[in-house]
Amino acid sequence: MNNLSALNRPQVLHSIQSQEFDLVIIGGGITGAGIALDAASRGMKVALVEMKDFASGTSSKSTKLIHGGLRYLAQFDIALVREVGRERAIVHRLAPHLVLAKKMLMPLVEGGTYGKMSTSFGLMVYDFLAEVKGDDKRVMLSKEEVLKKEPLLRPDILQGGGFYAEYRTDDARLTMENIKTAVQHGALCLNYVKAEKFVYTKGKVSGVHCKDLLSQQDLQINCKLVVSATGPWVDGLRKKDQSLKGKRLFLSKGVHIVVPRERFPLKYTTYFDVPQDSRMLFAVPRQRSTYIGTTDTEFKGDKNHVIANQEDVDYLLKGVNSMFPDINLTTEDVESSWAGLRPLIFEEGKNASEMSRKDEIFESETGLISIAGGKLTGYRKMAERILDRVSQRMKERFKISFPDTDTAKIILTGGPFKDKKDVKKYIKTIQQQLPVDLSKNIAEYLVSNYGKQTEIILRYMANFTDDVAEIALARAELKFTVENESVHTTMDFFNRRTGRLYFNLPSIAPIKTAIITDLQKYFAWDNERLAQEKQELETAIEEASHFEYSAV
Ligand code: FAD
Repeated sequence: MNNLSALNRPQVLHSIQSQEFDLVIIGGGITGAGIALDAASRGMKVALVEMKDFASGTSSKSTKLIHGGLRYLAQFDIALVREVGRERAIVHRLAPHLVLAKKMLMPLVEGGTYGKMSTSFGLMVYDFLAEVKGDDKRVMLSKEEVLKKEPLLRPDILQGGGFYAEYRTDDARLTMENIKTAVQHGALCLNYVKAEKFVYTKGKVSGVHCKDLLSQQDLQINCKLVVSATGPWVDGLRKKDQSLKGKRLFLSKGVHIVVPRERFPLKYTTYFDVPQDSRMLFAVPRQRSTYIGTTDTEFKGDKNHVIANQEDVDYLLKGVNSMFPDINLTTEDVESSWAGLRPLIFEEGKNASEMSRKDEIFESETGLISIAGGKLTGYRKMAERILDRVSQRMKERFKISFPDTDTAKIILTGGPFKDKKDVKKYIKTIQQQLPVDLSKNIAEYLVSNYGKQTEIILRYMANFTDDVAEIALARAELKFTVENESVHTTMDFFNRRTGRLYFNLPSIAPIKTAIITDLQKYFAWDNERLAQEKQELETAIEEASHFEYSAV
């Protein structure tokens, strides 16, 4: 039985309640997904519950870069730079179709964050620590060379630039492929199941009381140990466990805006100074769009409803227009946006931008282990650290030993690919199989989203007889994601599985009726649920593309 088929949910719900697990993980973002894979690959019996959709928290709202720690180098945290630098290459190797090697440009400007000498030296050390080789090594460019690469940059304050290697991914897809790989190793992972309270035996956590948010049924999962990987919600669960003492989270909101590539025809991901303050922004070209981010402001609102407001959009537009003066982007150009929360560990006297991005593990007297902070880039190492702790506790408390594992060798679902050349070759093969009326970028989109699973989608597509190829393809994607990726709602599909809400919003209108009609058939929705799903899609589109000033 495929445990990630949304159609098999009743059986998985039954199975999760009828056994004792070694480890229950709360939270299905990248941190929980990475932990589930590491634990399952060590032979532990693992269950993971996520209260909304997988990756619906911070893990679908990042800048989507698997990047080393240039900022850590500025703070002389050499060990961390080495760790994240090496991680980039490992995660790329595990899924080269999804974690794409991209060249990055850092223009140097008068009065900017980084000077010429320090950037040259910094990037050299960065390459050395991260073991970057060959053509990927950093190159320092003159002002003229930078302008040749990126003619849209502002020439008057430009002094030169650094050109170096980083990686771009889709955070939600990376989370999903980790969940799927964990399930292949025996984990049971359920979305829309909320952990409501802990169960204790002799003062130690021995299970979790949950609610299935799709059926409103209560359930209990029994286990030896519980890890909370709930990102911005970590303190809430520590509070339920009555162990919220000492260090706490500080939530910082980060917004990105998306504009059509034709309005901002950027060639390379660019990391540039914002002249009006001391921060830096990313502008990232991605297929038909370019996205710009991010803001970094303290957040105290509702963690379940975080959206970009007009102040965020104004700040990003002002920043990007001041470094790329000819593009003159306005709010009208903003096609979509997203806003996420960084779960930072609070440090007295520092503002959001200055606080460390390091992860932190909290362990309570009841045995609850919580992890927060960190980066998408470091998820595999964070999982390793958690599992070392979990294994130690298994030995001490339950006298059970589990073998070590090496997740650096576990290829993620969607692969295997030898390297980026192999991915390119595969994209060409897929392109030849697609109907001529589908745009050329579709093969690239499909392969970066699904890797070799694209073949299953194309097989499904052949059975849909819609006149419009785009509709047949979307329906095939839906069938694949319902059967293999626990899609239960319209937004699971349009946001986390396909990225359409952010990166191809205009593509939603022509296919939405077909998608919602199929979903209704898969799940036998009544009219009330149908109307609710339609409304949720319209609200999500409205909130991603229209902005208001926050009430003062
Ligand atoms: P989350 O993704 O938030 O996952 C926690 C999950 O727990 C949520 O899905 C939530 O629904 C679930 N949950 C909470 N309570 C419960 C409960 N009671 N029961 C069940 N489930 C529950 N990192 C990088 O490496 N590169 C970047 O480019 C980058 N850019 C960033 C840009 C921004 C704006 C932000 C905000 C972060 C960025 N990061 C980046 C950091 C990175 O995104 C985060 O470190 C990472 O996504 C955190 O993942 P997580 O799994 O810990 O948290």
